[in-house]
Amino acid sequence: MTCEVKDLKGTMAIVCGRRASKSCRYCHGASSRLCDFPVVREGKRGTCDAPLCSRCTTRIAGDGDLCRAHAPLWDTALGRPKVGPGAEGETT
Ligand SMILES: [Zn+2]
Ligand SMILES: [Zn+2]
Repeated sequence: MTCEVKDLKGTMAIVCGRRASKSCRYCHGASSRLCDFPVVREGKRGTCDAPLCSRCTTRIAGDGDLCRAHAPLWDTALGRPKVGPGAEGETT
């Protein structure tokens, strides 16, 4: 397992685990992102981690990504804003 320090808009976060090395879940192209939807797996909090490419991801605020299964749940289940394709840069 590898750990890296991520700078999320001034907030430092330590991210541990597998970085994207699998193929995209949907188009099977090279993935560069992982779904960040929070899940509980075997009693532990984690993230979905579905591998996604830049075309198949749904961007969320804070430099996150969602898979297609979780993208519709982000704003309804969690009440968080979603940044969809082409919507980046609208907030100042
Ligand atoms: Zn893809
Ligand atoms: Zn997901």
